[in-house]
Amino acid sequence: MSKSISLGVIGGGQLGSLLCAAAKKIEVNTVVLSDDKDGPAQNFCDHFIFSKYEFNQKVKEFISKVDFITYEFENIPVDFLEQLDKEKKVLPYPKINKIAQSRKLEKTFVNKLGIKTTDWAQIRSAEDIKTNQHLLPGILKSNTLGYDGKGQFILNSLDDIKQDWCFTSDYILEKKVDLKKEISVVITRYFDGNITHYEPIENVHKNQILYKSKIPADISNKISEEAINNAKKIAENFSYVGVLTVEFFLTQKDELLVNELAPRFHNSGHLTIEAFNISQFENHVRAVCNLNTKSIEKISNAEMYNILGFEIQNYKNKTFKKNEFFYDYLKKDPREGRKMGHITILKD
Ligand code: ADP
Ligand code: MG
Repeated sequence: MSKSISLGVIGGGQLGSLLCAAAKKIEVNTVVLSDDKDGPAQNFCDHFIFSKYEFNQKVKEFISKVDFITYEFENIPVDFLEQLDKEKKVLPYPKINKIAQSRKLEKTFVNKLGIKTTDWAQIRSAEDIKTNQHLLPGILKSNTLGYDGKGQFILNSLDDIKQDWCFTSDYILEKKVDLKKEISVVITRYFDGNITHYEPIENVHKNQILYKSKIPADISNKISEEAINNAKKIAENFSYVGVLTVEFFLTQKDELLVNELAPRFHNSGHLTIEAFNISQFENHVRAVCNLNTKSIEKISNAEMYNILGFEIQNYKNKTFKKNEFFYDYLKKDPREGRKMGHITILKD
């Protein structure tokens, strides 16, 4: 009997959990390395290792148990990923992570490919905001470590600059876009260069956190093609392996701008679990473990809603219809605004 493949996953949150569940379906073993001892992925993986992300004995054990290594979030120290990569292949490649961790490097990379982003500038002081007044009203964003709108400040005018801001970290200022819509493209690139992708997904945010995703996106064929082509161009330029998600803004003037890249499966892609023959998570496992490409077929239209904070209590004892699929991430602490679960509803 051939030895089954073992995939190492760094990070033990909901994305890691859903990845492990997909791996199990195709008989790939998963070993999760998490710096959170309560990481919910321990309920879904074959082996769970609790450790800091540094080269210690626990991490050596992790390496010894796996054939390939991937990660569920991009904010892992790149040095650590590079160290791991010397022992077992880390995919997507750590060099991509370096770019995706920094809004500045990411936008520069995308702009160099001739793809538009929002207008932006690097900000190191209140003075820098004054010299970039053309970007107001705008959003000041921490260059690194932001997610779900964390580290972001809306600046309608120079009066919104607070006297006590000390700019100890690096920021960018982005011009506020008059949004018509937001969409995302989830694309998979395999070792041999094969690419598969889903149709664009339409996303609605509330308070900068994803509230709803749906397919089909209400956009023209031209915009859909442009978004898919841009995502392909980005994946090819990185010689990417795995699932890559590209978030886009569509302006009121029908201009398509890249918002950000996620070198991984994405919250907006959760509906792919039920709406397609193969989910974003299975695609990722197949690509990083060098398994064969499977073509994507749509089963149904769908909507996905995130369940935040204490809202999860309303779902726990609910009965669901045949077309409703509820996921409880089994997180212990339902803080306000925290992603606790999601529900996908299949539509005709
Ligand atoms: P995060 O890393 O937190 O996901 P994003 O840059 O994607 O940060 O911002 C989160 C959301 O905030 C976006 O999906 C969008 O709804 C809104 N947003 C961010 N930047 C802009 C902008 N420049 N103009 C308009 N809306 C924006
Ligand atoms: Mg985002």
